[in-house]
Amino acid sequence: MSQALLKNYVNGEWRLSSANEQIPVKNPATAEILSYVPLSPAEEVNQATDLAAEAFEIWRRVPPTERVQPLFKLKGLLEVHADEIARLITQECGKTLKESRGELQRAIENVEVACGIPTTMQGTVLEDIARGIDEFMIRQPLGVAAAIAPFNFPAMIPFWFMPYAIACGNTYLVKPSEKVPMTLQLIFELIDQAEFPPGVINLVNGAKETVDAILQHPKIRAISFVGSSPVARHVYAQAAAHGKRVQCQGGAKNPVIILPDADMEMTTRIVADSAFGCAGQRCLAASLAVTVGEAQTRFIEAIADAAATRVTGNGLNADVQMGPVISAQSKARIESLIQSGVNEGAKILVDGRNPQITGLDHGNFVTPTVLDNIPPDGEIAHTEIFGPVLGLMSVETVDEAIALVNQSPWGNMACLFTSSGAAARKFRYEAEAGNIGINIGVAAPMAFFPFSGWKDSFFGDLHGQSHHAVEFFTQTKVVVERWPKEWSRQF
Ligand code: NAD
Repeated sequence: MSQALLKNYVNGEWRLSSANEQIPVKNPATAEILSYVPLSPAEEVNQATDLAAEAFEIWRRVPPTERVQPLFKLKGLLEVHADEIARLITQECGKTLKESRGELQRAIENVEVACGIPTTMQGTVLEDIARGIDEFMIRQPLGVAAAIAPFNFPAMIPFWFMPYAIACGNTYLVKPSEKVPMTLQLIFELIDQAEFPPGVINLVNGAKETVDAILQHPKIRAISFVGSSPVARHVYAQAAAHGKRVQCQGGAKNPVIILPDADMEMTTRIVADSAFGCAGQRCLAASLAVTVGEAQTRFIEAIADAAATRVTGNGLNADVQMGPVISAQSKARIESLIQSGVNEGAKILVDGRNPQITGLDHGNFVTPTVLDNIPPDGEIAHTEIFGPVLGLMSVETVDEAIALVNQSPWGNMACLFTSSGAAARKFRYEAEAGNIGINIGVAAPMAFFPFSGWKDSFFGDLHGQSHHAVEFFTQTKVVVERWPKEWSRQF
């Protein structure tokens, strides 16, 4: 094994895992093996958690103004190393360098928002709830919390949770996706330099067995999961059964509605970026475009052209607009779902299956694909493809379009393209999804707003980022106080 075997970071030091199994981490554009990741056994989760629980007793007593100082340092380090981190994201995840820089920027913004914890963690006080009696609500950290992350945003997604958890006084354990574990390995080298006390932030690599140990450990008080909906349901149910606080962000199938009064040039550009950016492997990727009335003919031609001309290749090359999908299995699954759509009666306008990408014969490439006439009740209309595939449907009225959005089991994002304020307001009001875009194709909340998936796209109540994260990582304590005058020395 010439490539590096990745390590865990526990109690402020790098540790080799005793895992029996190590799996290769491959560059999805070239199939080159970049490293090996250990599938850490339950004992290693247990050790890391016990040490994090010890560290919690010290960390929770550190004043919030001091707890944020290593986060300020980390922000600086992430900025200094941004190009190196972005390059690594592209190498192990496949997206373009521009997309990698963008996700890292969102990670940094979450650190910035978490640095406001001395203000955002404040409680409330009301004097004289009865004569001479005052009441306070204070927020206290929970203990050890953990994140289980997916492959598609190796830098950003752990940062929806980790900086807030730490700043609130919890200690933390992160399990990255075994498909893209190298980005966090590099970021933890920076965490090591940022001078967090030992045990405050820990990294344990692994897969299902590692996750199951996290779900069962009695000292882990809160779990944040992001990934596919079947696993999200499992994590939600198991974490709850073990008495934990839990938030699980799941999969998606995001519709965009295009009205005839939309600016078609801008709409096409934005929808193409949404559907094919990150090779469609974004939980906020547009995957169904529903045209209303005469928008249909103009949009179909334009989007087919945008799909057919998108430059696909190795994301490290500056002229490439779309990289590969994550794995050979993923490519096979996407191509088979395209075939299911055709079998169900959809018409294939642009077919991205098995493309030839010069010099990259072993890469996992599917180029942008457009399927027209998606049957609304078929499998393809409701199945998350998680690849660069856009399905088209057409209806006659905005009410029909909103009904299509609302009959979906998913609720991550829905977007509307229009120049009508009244239509926009109606859509914003009625659409059953937690992230809404109006003339926006990827309605990703900034770090100071919660990432608000609904329905089968989210299990829990408090979401990641911002004040939701502060609430998720703290428990409220109410204090009612009476201090009769006669008990105190008189001055
Ligand atoms: P995944 O569900 O396969 O894996 C996510 C995590 O769960 C990984 O860390 C993995 O090791 C672990 N895991 C996988 N199978 C498990 C099992 N049986 N038991 C316990 N743990 C298990 O997801 P993925 O393929 O890495 O990511 C893509 C999915 O994530 C898509 O469905 C996408 O929509 C979703 N996603 C959602 C959001 C959101 O905010 N809603 C954001 C990003 C990605």
